[in-house]
Amino acid sequence: MQREINQLKKKLCHAQRKRTSTPSDSSSNDENDSGYRRRSRTPPANPSHMKRSIILNVDAKALDSSIDHHKFHSHQLSILKHTLLANQNTRRKVKSINNRKKKKKMNTYGWAARDSSGILSPFHFERRANDDNDITIKILFCGICHSDLHFAKNEAGMTSYPFVPGHEIVGEVTKVGHNVTKFKIGDKAGVGCMVGSCGSCENCKQDLEVYCPEMIWTLKTFGGYSENIVIDEHFAVLIPNSLPLHGAAPLLCAGITVYSPMMYYGLCKPGQHLGVVGLGGLGHVAVKFAKALGMKVTVISTSPSKKNEAVERLGVDSFLVSHDQEQLQAAMGTMDGIIDTVSGPHSILPLINLLKTNGKLVAVGVPTEAPEIPYIPLIMGRKLIGGSAAGGMKETQEMVDFAAKHNIIADIEVIPMDYVNTAMERLAKGDVKYRFVIDVANTLNSSF
Ligand code: NAP
Ligand code: ZN
Ligand code: ZN
Repeated sequence: MQREINQLKKKLCHAQRKRTSTPSDSSSNDENDSGYRRRSRTPPANPSHMKRSIILNVDAKALDSSIDHHKFHSHQLSILKHTLLANQNTRRKVKSINNRKKKKKMNTYGWAARDSSGILSPFHFERRANDDNDITIKILFCGICHSDLHFAKNEAGMTSYPFVPGHEIVGEVTKVGHNVTKFKIGDKAGVGCMVGSCGSCENCKQDLEVYCPEMIWTLKTFGGYSENIVIDEHFAVLIPNSLPLHGAAPLLCAGITVYSPMMYYGLCKPGQHLGVVGLGGLGHVAVKFAKALGMKVTVISTSPSKKNEAVERLGVDSFLVSHDQEQLQAAMGTMDGIIDTVSGPHSILPLINLLKTNGKLVAVGVPTEAPEIPYIPLIMGRKLIGGSAAGGMKETQEMVDFAAKHNIIADIEVIPMDYVNTAMERLAKGDVKYRFVIDVANTLNSSF
């Protein structure tokens, strides 16, 4: 025991000496140049951790003088170990920040909105240098999700301008850091809704990074309507070669946003009846997944004009027009679950009525006005309302692999970069079947 104590004391003194010589910015968090933080692979060194480690150092000093005179207890030994670990983590963190500062940032360009008009125009900015855990992706295609539109116009009041949208990103890996294991140069990679999380909370440990309190939405950074992206490999997925890249791009948000709740809420069994509300980007991919899983699918839509194609091409089993009371009445109590993808104001009472006893209504759309939740019809049918935000990285890879196995890609309209403002206007009117995808690689340059 005494030998172990002496060794620890020695290491601790050494660590404290090093710590006092670290630069004063050592408490800065791990933010990169594009304004987002990378997932740490060691426990985070935020200021509160720093404070704790200093307190532990003081405790260790007191211990240091007392251990020569008193019997050493195992809990004291564990405090010493803890102190040592905290010092080591801080040093590692500082080293990584300093290394990154030394590396050259990458000039890049894209299209950004500058204010809540949401109008996009060319914009030059810098990406951080590719670090040890990072890959750099040359962006080939990027889908236009309705969330890009909500954000460009600051409809949620959370946008920071200039805002470069785009979180349905696919491209080719052009650089890999020393520690990267998942990708090699030339691989096809995808980036979706998030670019970082803490890596150590309960959610992160369970592959639910999207629910991490420190999760960083791609929407809060410079996104995919741009030349390239640098990202910790953990937040990228491998796109199987069999998937056409333009059609695969929308899977990175629309795909995972509907796949994840179908799996989590058990709405994925052959023979179950699934309702899909809103036949847009998310909705049409939900239909494709549900059909691949052998489910019966009913679309509930505001657009009667979408009926023929939904039935003939997407293979939906029935199509309800949401303002047709007779149709809704006839379908009451028939559905095991409903995925609500609607982006605008709507009532959810008619949807609850479509559910069987024990049915589940899952909200994934983010309407500009939150609907009222009627309790009585829920109580009377033991029904459930839930929500879901995209999915974790492990599940995103699983979804992409599922899509590849079943040949599922989005139905898309490929557009050049300089069509983006018209595309946004059309998206606001629901005039797209069913996803715009920007041909970034071939049209970004020429649009300058
Ligand atoms: P989208 O392509 O515009 O599709 C939304 C569909 O909802 C429209 O095509 C339309 O379908 C229907 N709709 C629109 N306004 C409506 C209204 N006022 N009342 C009733 N129906 C209406 O949008 P998207 O990209 O699929 O995204 C849908 C929503 O999901 C957006 O709010 C987006 O921000 C959100 N989202 C959430 C997550 C998440 O993590 N939970 C991820 C991605 C997107 P019909 O013509 O068939 O009625
Ligand atoms: Zn999205
Ligand atoms: Zn976390």
